[in-house]
Amino acid sequence: MLEGKRGIVFGVANEYSIAWAIAKAANEHGAQLAITYQNERFEETVRKLAASLNDPMVLQCDVSEDGQIVRVYDEISRQWGKLDFVVHSIAYAPRAALEGKFLDTTREDFLLAHDISVYSFIAVTRQAVPLMTEGGSVLTLTYLGSERAVPGYNVMGVCKAALEACVRYLAAELGERNIRVNALSPGPIKTLAARGIPGFTKMLDLVKERAPMRRSTLQEEVGKMAVVLLSDYASAITGEVIYVDCGYHIMGL
Ligand code: NAD
Repeated sequence: MLEGKRGIVFGVANEYSIAWAIAKAANEHGAQLAITYQNERFEETVRKLAASLNDPMVLQCDVSEDGQIVRVYDEISRQWGKLDFVVHSIAYAPRAALEGKFLDTTREDFLLAHDISVYSFIAVTRQAVPLMTEGGSVLTLTYLGSERAVPGYNVMGVCKAALEACVRYLAAELGERNIRVNALSPGPIKTLAARGIPGFTKMLDLVKERAPMRRSTLQEEVGKMAVVLLSDYASAITGEVIYVDCGYHIMGL
């Protein structure tokens, strides 16, 4: 489905990362990939994972620094000269902002969470646009906590609401260049980031009890849907938030 396409996946930390599941699926479907990791702490793990991909670029990118984002795209421009898709699979909020009451969110934690989890999506998309000379597909990862009050999700819910608004604004601006912008909204999945959410195990149990399919989502299932959205099979889909959550979000109780 992605033969002949070149794409970058931001946010691989380890084998459990949603970004990694998307990279693996895109690779299986013929895409040539660049993947990024945040810092030296993740480098060894990510390089080992990348060895199973077909000739990938592996680059460091801490999205809190504009210079690192620019460097990543300079490298892509130098090696490939064009780009077909971008996957943004990055979020961060200080632990204190998730553990405490939402009412007590500090200005500093609010700004940091939005900088890493929301602004970075605009920044990585902006740098990609000049390279998407034949159109493109941009994808981010969101969560139901954007529209429902999920205990413990706190400031991250506000970030995801803003991120979903970014999806719509970017989709509206980039549509005429044939660049599509969408988000996937998976149900809870055990990953490094998820472990930072207080009561995550309880969330997972609740989903297994109440979702129409009586289970939560697997990374691989997010990977498969990502491949569809990155491919020409989704050529008329933009500005959407697509749930990959075994139906959980349709339930009233
Ligand atoms: P993960 O921990 O594997 O991925 C999060 C990534 O963000 C990591 O690679 C981390 O290094 C990166 N990151 C954090 N700060 C960064 C920075 N300053 N610069 C660059 N990278 C940075 O966890 P995940 O669950 O795969 O998360 C990926 C995305 O999926 C996130 O946006 C998350 O909110 C979203 N999501 C996760 C779930 C879930 O239950 N796991 C559900 C819905 C949405």
